[in-house]
Amino acid sequence: MAILPIIHTNRIFNIDQLDKIGPKTYEKFKENHIVTNEDLIQYVPTRYKDYQLTDLTQIEDGQQVNVVGLVYQIGKPSYYAKRRSRTIVRVYIKDIPFKLIFFNQVYLIKQLTVEQEYIISGKINLAKQEITVNRIKVNDHEHNDEKQTLEPHYRKIKEISTKTLQHAIHQALDMTSGYVELPIDLVKKYKLTPLDVCYETIHRSQDSRQIELAKRSIKFYELFMFQLYMQYKKHNQQLKDSTEPLNVEIDELSPLINHLPFELTIDQKTVVETIIKDFNGTHLMNRLVQGDVGSGKTIVALIAMYAIHLKGYQSAFMAPTEILATQHLEGLKSFVDQCRLSVQIELLTSSTPTKERKRILSELSSGEIDMIIGTHALLTEEVEFDQLKLVITDEQHRFGVRQRSILKDKGQGVHVLMMTATPIPRTLSFTAMGDLNVSLIRSKPAGRKPIITRWFDERDHDEMVTLLKDALNERQQVFVVAPLIEDSDMVEAHSAESLYYLYQQLFNHHSIGLMHGKLKSDEKDELMQQFIRHDIDILISTTVIEVGVNVPNASLMIIYNSDRFGLSTLHQLRGRVGRGHKQSYCYLVASPKTETGIQRMKIMEQSEDGFYIAEKDLEMRGPGDFLGVKQSGLPDFQFAHLVEDYKMVMYAHLEAEYYINHLTDDLKMWLDNFKPELEA
Ligand code: ADP
Ligand code: MG
Repeated sequence: MAILPIIHTNRIFNIDQLDKIGPKTYEKFKENHIVTNEDLIQYVPTRYKDYQLTDLTQIEDGQQVNVVGLVYQIGKPSYYAKRRSRTIVRVYIKDIPFKLIFFNQVYLIKQLTVEQEYIISGKINLAKQEITVNRIKVNDHEHNDEKQTLEPHYRKIKEISTKTLQHAIHQALDMTSGYVELPIDLVKKYKLTPLDVCYETIHRSQDSRQIELAKRSIKFYELFMFQLYMQYKKHNQQLKDSTEPLNVEIDELSPLINHLPFELTIDQKTVVETIIKDFNGTHLMNRLVQGDVGSGKTIVALIAMYAIHLKGYQSAFMAPTEILATQHLEGLKSFVDQCRLSVQIELLTSSTPTKERKRILSELSSGEIDMIIGTHALLTEEVEFDQLKLVITDEQHRFGVRQRSILKDKGQGVHVLMMTATPIPRTLSFTAMGDLNVSLIRSKPAGRKPIITRWFDERDHDEMVTLLKDALNERQQVFVVAPLIEDSDMVEAHSAESLYYLYQQLFNHHSIGLMHGKLKSDEKDELMQQFIRHDIDILISTTVIEVGVNVPNASLMIIYNSDRFGLSTLHQLRGRVGRGHKQSYCYLVASPKTETGIQRMKIMEQSEDGFYIAEKDLEMRGPGDFLGVKQSGLPDFQFAHLVEDYKMVMYAHLEAEYYINHLTDDLKMWLDNFKPELEA
């Protein structure tokens, strides 16, 4: 949860000064990360109990009611078993005498006093004039009959009573001043409530409308401040990362671009132009290219590396796995050869033979090698460059920030390009990418046949098997994915292992491979290589099958229990096929029991647009567990919700941009000290 500062630092105090917080209680609070008045004030109710009073003229017998009653007699508990008691308390409700029946709850009765008014909740018996009580609470507010009353409900803190907690919060509210204020223009424009009033309302108001308004203002505060913070970081980064322009002319790149076996798509061209603009600017590039599987990101990487090479510098291109790095090398080399470029391009992984490795290391540091493709092996200390100017990471969500910066630090003034097939939905990108520039490749290379997706109910498995046989007879290769490695008593779903046995019976003339996460990575690599070589016809696997790997002859993807996977995962899996000339298919085998499960299958049948699917996935799952979002450092706010409050996210983004572009000394000073806890 992202916690933003709301109180000026000089007005923050420790809560051990508060009344009724002794050393022991203070320790308990501390264990729950509540140390200061600011922490307490931000310990907001998780929900409100609604005490809407029941309209007495409309009561039906046996109904749950909330009524105000005046106690006039408190009976003694009569025990009918060990710790089982029944107590009668007599009250007037609008001058009519009623009996309140308490079962057990002796501690509650002890707290009652005669001649005091209470709000009583329970089940009413009109004939007997009785109420069986579930809750009773002092009526300490002026209630009239219509007024709704709310009671805040806090997440319980171990060994601290709600009363102590609330007392502490109320003291903190009373004793605190110096809340952060938003610029007055924004307050007016968006009709915001000041933060002190907001928190007062959140903790103490009984009026749901007021509470909603307070939440709205805090949401804006959270989103605006977060945007301001991110954009300020970006602004500072740009100042720090100033560099000499490289002065690349687009025409210089034509020996490569004009000799490719295909024409670049519009989006590829745009991204290339943007990257060149970045190279020619006075700030270092920090750009993420998002493009669906198969949208052609690799060639964009090559063009960028080529531009760098033309200016006499080196590039490094890092992929998360050896297979991927090897495929990239082969692919890029073939382009380089076809275009007859004089570029030296090499591969470095942990399995590069020692002698070869020595040569590569020495040629990297002497500057002979122009482009190095590799895995994490590029990060080791011995890898030194002559003049590294560009770092590219493929499938960037597989790398940490640190790994990227290790590579970047091997040169001076290094541009960074990241590539991902995991689309961050547009809805999130404002927030997620505050300190990053993003380019999209939405268009698919021409002539690519859409993948036909079909959903089969488990009952129609035979029908699917018939289609599968046809594909195998045409020498096509097939991926099969299951949610489990082996059968489980706990989960009713297909396992890769049981499918492996089933398929061995069904297709005994074909060679079948079984891959899952329990295999060592070189075993997985070997299986993958066999599949690429077509030594294997059917590869049965869990979701470990590699992202980005190209097996053009694989034209069928079968996903069992597909309703168990999120949309984005399904889309990524489906992207393993559809890379060759043949028509490709994706078969989803599932009998979903929930509405969302059914909806997911339908969305998959209807759409092949990764961005659309990402939006839908987000809608259905929320941003918290969104694939790839965790890695992008997306915060969960206390109140703001990145999807539901999308419009506000946009406004906050625009307003923050304005303030960063018109940075005053005051704001600058304040932002230099502004430290949100982004991961609490
Ligand atoms: P991804 O974006 O998933 O990394 P790749 O870069 O692996 O995609 O490209 C997928 C395939 O599409 C490769 O075989 C690549 O050569 C080819 N390709 C890339 N751009 C084009 C294009 N503009 N026209 C036709 N084919 C293209
Ligand atoms: Mg790729």
